[in-house]
Amino acid sequence: MFGMKYILAIDQGTTSTRSRVYDEKGKCVSGAQLEFPQIYPQPGWVEHSPAEIWRSVKNTAAQALSAAGLAPRDIAAIGITNQRETTAVWDKRTGEPVCNAIVWQCRRTADYCKKLVKDGFSERIYNKTGLVPDAYFSATKIKWILDNVDGARERAERGELLFGTIDSYLLWKLTGGRSHFTDYTNAARTMLFNIHTLEWDGELLRLFDIPRAMLPEVKPSSYDFGETETDGLRGVHVLGIAGDQQASLFGQGCFEAGDIKNTYGTGCFLLMNTGEEPVKSQNGLLTTLGATAGGKPCYVLEGSVFVGGAVVQWLRDGIGLIKSAEESERAAKEAADSGGVYIVPAFTGLGAPYWDSNARGTITGITRGTTREQIVRAALESIAYEVYDVVKAMEKDAGIKIARLSADGGASANGFLMQFQSDILRAEVVSRAGESTALGAAFLAGTCAGVWNEEDIRRILGSEKVGVFAPSMEEGRRLELLQGWAAAVKRTVYKP
Ligand code: ADP
Repeated sequence: MFGMKYILAIDQGTTSTRSRVYDEKGKCVSGAQLEFPQIYPQPGWVEHSPAEIWRSVKNTAAQALSAAGLAPRDIAAIGITNQRETTAVWDKRTGEPVCNAIVWQCRRTADYCKKLVKDGFSERIYNKTGLVPDAYFSATKIKWILDNVDGARERAERGELLFGTIDSYLLWKLTGGRSHFTDYTNAARTMLFNIHTLEWDGELLRLFDIPRAMLPEVKPSSYDFGETETDGLRGVHVLGIAGDQQASLFGQGCFEAGDIKNTYGTGCFLLMNTGEEPVKSQNGLLTTLGATAGGKPCYVLEGSVFVGGAVVQWLRDGIGLIKSAEESERAAKEAADSGGVYIVPAFTGLGAPYWDSNARGTITGITRGTTREQIVRAALESIAYEVYDVVKAMEKDAGIKIARLSADGGASANGFLMQFQSDILRAEVVSRAGESTALGAAFLAGTCAGVWNEEDIRRILGSEKVGVFAPSMEEGRRLELLQGWAAAVKRTVYKP
């Protein structure tokens, strides 16, 4: 119905924006990427200029189209995926943001969140939103803007201001101010959205003192969000929206309950599809919404590892043991094993399932004979152990034993890491070197446009080049290594 051909995926990330064009076979035919400035007004604060983000989107989209020799009329649909939780507030009439967007990483509302925990709000908030009170999520950022930007609260109460996560801001810009919508996956990260009733929560809006009129309407991830009115990109329908991690889950084809993916980036993001039922976590994981091609979202368990590929950056930039991230694979393979060395990279504390913010990293088991290669190997192994811990917590919470883990992100290119992950999990690991986040957004838009159905997507994914790693480690050895890891973690936990 929208004229079939190509899908444009806009992937608006934390440090850069990427636009990619996919053809009907799901093949990426062109792409463009632009970085934009990170603004640090004070230690711990992070902002983005909405105008810079918008510029990066327009420019990368134009470059991607022109590189493929395409015009907007060749594009059947646009899919948007975005950095989650980052908060923008703008004037409904002029489109002018009232201040810079507050980025998910920004800690300016951390004290207020601590107070929420102390005042006993954690359980109420978790039961409604699936989240634990934290400065990451949008709610306290919106409150901060209304409380601190001159005149913002009055203007919001008069109905003059709009709030949006980045997807919502981009959609509004793309449609010339006609569409003020978001999708379930982005709404679920605001800490204002009830993931059980699928509605904005009146009690939470009162708690954070946020006028309902500011909020976008919440729609399914695969939906006709409106038509573009932008110069150079006119008359195309935006048919898909999802937060980056949920787009990657969809782009990996994790459609069924029990399907799980991990993105091995700077940190690691694990998401498990739990189907139609929300799973309450006993292990400090988050419960959130996932993207589907249908009218209803699925439920998802989410856990993250703070230091993933960052431990490899530390080997390279911090202590200079390797010259490039790729070299870590060669070095690790040169060592037959880590020789009993364990690195617990708790640089900023231990996350799920330990939750010890005072812990700091350790290296244990060093002897006079320990080599550089063994340290590098132990660093890569630590990523796999951390992921193992989160997977086990998810399995326990969901009562599901996983058979396979889908992997993406920069460090998923490391064959040693992928094999070790498979051995330690005793599960197959399927690593996709490609960009599953943008692909997920394209799939969501393409299914809504009628270009693909779920079967087509499975076929597209099935024909992609992937690395498949099957477990081959002897069970006794695996248990011995896991015991060693548990002992190292025990020594890392902070004891005053
Ligand atoms: P992000 O999106 O968080 O910036 P990426 O998905 O681009 O992350 O992945 C970058 C991370 O992956 C870096 O921390 C880097 O150290 C790590 N990395 C990249 N290539 C490799 C590799 N071959 N082996 C191990 N780690 C790698």
